[in-house]
Amino acid sequence: MKNRVLVVDDEIEIRNLLFEALSEMGGFEVEMAGSGEEALDRIQQEKFDLVLTDLRMDGMDGLRLVTEITQSKPEILTVLMTGHGTIDSALEAMKRGACDYLTKPLNLEEMVIRLRKVIEGQQSFLKIKDYAAQLEKANQELRKIDEMKSEFVSVASHELRTPLATIKNAVQLVLRGKAGEINETQLNFLSMAEKNINRLVNILNDILDLSRIESGRVEMKSEELHLREAIEFILSSLKPQADAKSIQFTKEIGEGIPLVYGDREKIEQILTNLIGNSVKFTPEGGEISVVVNLFDKEGKMVAISVRDSGIGIPGDQLDKVFKKFYQVEGSLHRSSGGTGLGLAITKGLVEAGEGTIWAESEVGKGSTFTFTLPVSKGEKRDPRFRLALDKAFHRAQENETSLSLFLIGVLGDKTEKKDALFDHLEEQVKKCLYRKPDVILRREREGILAVICEADLRGAQVVRYRIEEEIQKAFVKGKVNPPIIKVGVATYPEEALSKRDLFRKAKDQLRG
Ligand code: ADP
Repeated sequence: MKNRVLVVDDEIEIRNLLFEALSEMGGFEVEMAGSGEEALDRIQQEKFDLVLTDLRMDGMDGLRLVTEITQSKPEILTVLMTGHGTIDSALEAMKRGACDYLTKPLNLEEMVIRLRKVIEGQQSFLKIKDYAAQLEKANQELRKIDEMKSEFVSVASHELRTPLATIKNAVQLVLRGKAGEINETQLNFLSMAEKNINRLVNILNDILDLSRIESGRVEMKSEELHLREAIEFILSSLKPQADAKSIQFTKEIGEGIPLVYGDREKIEQILTNLIGNSVKFTPEGGEISVVVNLFDKEGKMVAISVRDSGIGIPGDQLDKVFKKFYQVEGSLHRSSGGTGLGLAITKGLVEAGEGTIWAESEVGKGSTFTFTLPVSKGEKRDPRFRLALDKAFHRAQENETSLSLFLIGVLGDKTEKKDALFDHLEEQVKKCLYRKPDVILRREREGILAVICEADLRGAQVVRYRIEEEIQKAFVKGKVNPPIIKVGVATYPEEALSKRDLFRKAKDQLRG
């Protein structure tokens, strides 16, 4: 199909000349209009790919025509024809949406080539846009399926846990002789059953943990903690296993190690997984030490290393051990009876607390797993917000991408049920975010939910619109005394160039 071009010029000779050149040399289907007003009328009634207009015309000039077309029919391309003395106006037209300009006297061959290029450029852009839309749709479907899978795994594991607990109780009752005396063979069989039930319970717990991490539902408390206490507690609880293999535990915690910020239970789970693995993969008579150091010069993070003198991990598999279900090749690794989920969970927990984790190892000599935790600076606010924003901002600067910060404020809400309100709000906001790196953080004390989102100015407006719509549906429509919820947003680099500005700009919109 031929591309349709509308030529707008108030001089009939030029119109005719262009008509001929564009139809014959360019192979376009050409229509003509003698004024800007007539051109506007025609584009309302017919479909055109491109409007080629003169700048100087009586009545509506070319600049206004371009502006009007960009606003009312942005899909139509516009190219301006201008004399040498009016290049400034041509540049102004480009700012207002024109795709190109041609200077008079016109070189007809050049004109045809330039118009073709403009149209081809637009067609490629539309194709890419179409692919992007298809990809986004496919992505959305995949995300939905992924959510369904996580939901299924989580429900199934929950449902399995309850009957399993009953079976475990029953087996234990019989084992302890509460249902009458049992002979040695029965005792052996039941002990075997008990061991396997415990194994199954552990696997189910791992699967549940992982599905929570993968769907971003890990709840992290923020407390100030003494690492020493947590480390000593875990070392003493794992001591019986270490003693059974004559493994020595040691710890080195520097004097000036500050308090850290995190969720005590989760940190204990991380330590249990790492030290537990070290015990598993270290032969009789080995050593395991836990070493704590400041990680960076600025004193923002603490690094905790679990070092063992065990069998080690080959270099090419060091990163893979953090993948779910991954177990290192080799009989010693495989015979440990694990599920390969422990390190995937550990990594998820460390990252949910804004830390990082990595492994170093030498086969036959031992392994060191190190993770970081944020230092508490006695700040009233949860430092995870600062850290998450730091990380995202740094990434945006490095990759030259955009970053939007949303602050969603609950104003003047005097109800006691702030927790429930925030839970509900978080749920609604989550629905509006599609990308994995998007972060939601609660600053409940200040009545704010913060969202850090990899979106540019336009994307941010779309997300804002979605969030406002969800809030309207969930909290305002049909409610007698709805809470006042406001959304503020700012985008780097378009609206703010620093983290502070980003925060200030978004916060300003929450006032009043
Ligand atoms: P599991 O221990 O249940 O198999 P993990 O995810 O905890 O699963 O660990 C994955 C694999 O990484 C282990 O199977 C083992 O091969 C390897 N690994 C983990 N920790 C150590 C360690 N301290 N020394 C040697 N290998 C290890």
